[in-house]
Amino acid sequence: MKPILYFVIPCYNEEEVLPVTAPMFRETLCGMIKDDMISEKSRIMFVNDGSRDKTWEIIDRLSKEDEYFEGISLSRNRGHQNALLGGLMYAKERADITISIDCDGQDDINASREMVEKYLEGCDIVYGVRNSRKSDSFFKRTTARGFYKLLKGMGVETVYDHADYRLMSKRALEALSEYKEVNIFLRGMVPLVGFKSTSVYYDRTPRLAGESHYPLKKMLALAFDGITSLSTKPIKIVTGLGFFVTFISFIGIIWSVVQYFLDSAIAGWASTVSIVCFLGGIQLLSIGIIGSYIGKIYLETKARPRYIIAEATEQEEKK
Ligand code: UDP
Ligand code: MG
Repeated sequence: MKPILYFVIPCYNEEEVLPVTAPMFRETLCGMIKDDMISEKSRIMFVNDGSRDKTWEIIDRLSKEDEYFEGISLSRNRGHQNALLGGLMYAKERADITISIDCDGQDDINASREMVEKYLEGCDIVYGVRNSRKSDSFFKRTTARGFYKLLKGMGVETVYDHADYRLMSKRALEALSEYKEVNIFLRGMVPLVGFKSTSVYYDRTPRLAGESHYPLKKMLALAFDGITSLSTKPIKIVTGLGFFVTFISFIGIIWSVVQYFLDSAIAGWASTVSIVCFLGGIQLLSIGIIGSYIGKIYLETKARPRYIIAEATEQEEKK
C-alpha cells in the first residue's frame, strides 16, 4: 500500500505568495504520485491562520478547482505553531505521513521527495535542515544562530538550523498528540517524541513574495517561549545567582565589620548605592523569570483549546 501524504501549510496573510507557491507544491506532489511513491489520495492542505486578507478565498478557490488542494480555517489568528499543530492533527486522521512546510517557498519543496524516500526506508521523522543561510541577511543569520545556541545552552534539545519543515509519520503524530501542553514549541517537542529520525539537507532561498511575520521582537518571544516551555534551567540559574550573591554579600558583611573594628571605615556612598541598585535589578529579573513560569502554569491549568477549526473546504463531492 502506498502511503497517503499530506502537505500541511500554515498561511497567515499570504495572498501574494500563495498563487506563486501553490502550483509548486502541486507539481512536487503529482511528481511523487506519478513515480508511485505515494497514494493518489495525497493532498496539499493549507491552514488559514485567521488571515485578514484574501488568503482563505484563494484556498477555497484552489480546492474547488483542483482535487489535490484542501484547506481548513482557524477561528482566529493563533500563531504559526498553533496553526501548524491544528493542521497536523487534522491531517493525521486522513494521512499516513505529513510534511509541514511554510507557504512562502523559502524551504526547498523538492527536498520533500528525499524526505518521503527516507520514510519509505523506515524513518518516522525526517527533519529538513538548512545547508546554508546565504540568502538570509547578516542580521537574521546571526540572530537565528544565536537562537539555536541559546536554546541548547538552556537545555532545550533542538535540531540545529531546522525550522518547521519536517516529515512525520502517523505514529509520530499520534505520539505528539499525547503532548497536551498549551505552550507549544514544536521544534523542541518533536525530538522528545523519539522514533527513528534523520535529516535531509536543502538550501533556503529568500521569500518569493510578501513579508516575513517574524521580526526580531517575535523571534525573541519565540526563543523565550521555547526555553520556558521546555526547560527549567533559567530557574536553576536564578537560584545559583541568588546563592552566589548571598555568599559575596556575606563576605562583604564580615569585611565591613572587620573594617569597623580596625577603625578605617570609608565613606562610600556611590559604591553602596550602585550595589543596592545592582541587587535590585537582579531581583527584579529573577522574579520576572520565575513569574513567567507561573504564568505558564496558569495557562496550562486552564487547558484551553490550542486552536479552533472554523471551516474546512468541502471534499466529499470530489470523491
Ligand atoms: N504564519 C502563521 N501564523 C502567524 C504567522 C505566520 O500561520 O501568525 C505562517 C506564515 O504564513 C508562513 C509561516 O508561518 O507560512 C512562516 O512565517 P514567515 O515566513 O513569516 O516567517 P520566517 O520564514 O520569516 O521566519
Ligand atoms: Mg518564511
